[in-house]
Amino acid sequence: FQVIEGESLRKKLHNTILELKGNIRVFCRVRPLLPDDGPAADMVVSFPSSTEALGRGIELAQSGQKYSFSFDKVFNQEASQEDVFTEISQLVQSALDGYKVCIFAYGQTGSGKTYTMVGRPGLPELKGLIPRSLEQIFLVSQSLKDQGWKYTMQASVLEIYNETIRDLLAPTENPGKKYNIIHDANGKNTYVPDLTIVDVCGADEISTLLQRAAQSRSVGRTQMNEQSSRSHFVFTLRISGINENTEQQVQGVLNLIDLAGSERLSKSGATGDRLNETKAINKSLSCLSDVIFALAKKEDHVPFRNSKLTTLLQPCLGGDSKTLMFVNISPDPTSTGESLCSLRFAARVNSCEIGIPRRQT
Ligand code: ADP
Repeated sequence: FQVIEGESLRKKLHNTILELKGNIRVFCRVRPLLPDDGPAADMVVSFPSSTEALGRGIELAQSGQKYSFSFDKVFNQEASQEDVFTEISQLVQSALDGYKVCIFAYGQTGSGKTYTMVGRPGLPELKGLIPRSLEQIFLVSQSLKDQGWKYTMQASVLEIYNETIRDLLAPTENPGKKYNIIHDANGKNTYVPDLTIVDVCGADEISTLLQRAAQSRSVGRTQMNEQSSRSHFVFTLRISGINENTEQQVQGVLNLIDLAGSERLSKSGATGDRLNETKAINKSLSCLSDVIFALAKKEDHVPFRNSKLTTLLQPCLGGDSKTLMFVNISPDPTSTGESLCSLRFAARVNSCEIGIPRRQT
């Protein structure tokens, strides 16, 4: 029997959690305050500076209570798009080694999901994870040519709106068209018949595709954000590699997913169709959380089939696939309730909410 104290116990616990979680990581990103947000003096988000929590801890104050959370990485307001990409570039690259990778952005509308995933079009330094990831994939695949590797890549972009799939690369709009998700015979892959699949040879082509997809993406209106995205946006790059020297073959998949806003019914002020839409979003986000939670806990039954998103991504979640969830947080004092919900969702996925709420002094 070994007594482990202080720092080493925390390290051991953290390592055990990582082991339990397998290939699931959770990063948190807090966006800067914007002019329309509440006053900076009411700042509710803080970052603990103790050695063990540095870069991994976040605290949120609400109604005199302080809530502490810990993730695999926490980016504060100053983190640039490049800083964030640096942390995920290895993960992205593993798709070239044949891994199935899913990167999600989760959070309420206006918390910075699209900024993180797509960035600001036309401003190269503000490019988000999707364009940066694809540039890197193409760059690395070119450099592997010397070692005999030849890659072919195919992209598709779809959205799931109210549990209905829409093809965002369809050459012509076909509103009534129904898309189904089919599992192949061995259950290792899913595909959507009739979905537009585009062969891509370079990152430039991808940016054109992304523009096309962005135009098609449905946007709804809620009281919270005139341009709020009410659908899950799923960009998929399928990578097939063959080494002409060794005849080794790899099949990797990179899924980059900008999830629909996670705001609760009361906050969204939704009624009628919008209410049903919000309910569908909340249900599918909760299905995603159930799936990741079951995978992290290595449960026998993983409820993949409870939503379109998890059904579609089933082959890329679990097993030796790799999952990264960004939880995006708005520092706006009026968003504290939603931020706390987002952090709790992420903590459930991360299995490591730390600390019991304590009174602020
Ligand atoms: P969401 O996709 O979650 O609805 P957005 O990505 O549209 O949110 O972000 C909301 C607003 O905040 C946008 O104006 C966006 O440009 C800005 N924003 C988000 N994250 C950042 C950041 N890290 N730095 C600067 N501005 C940001």
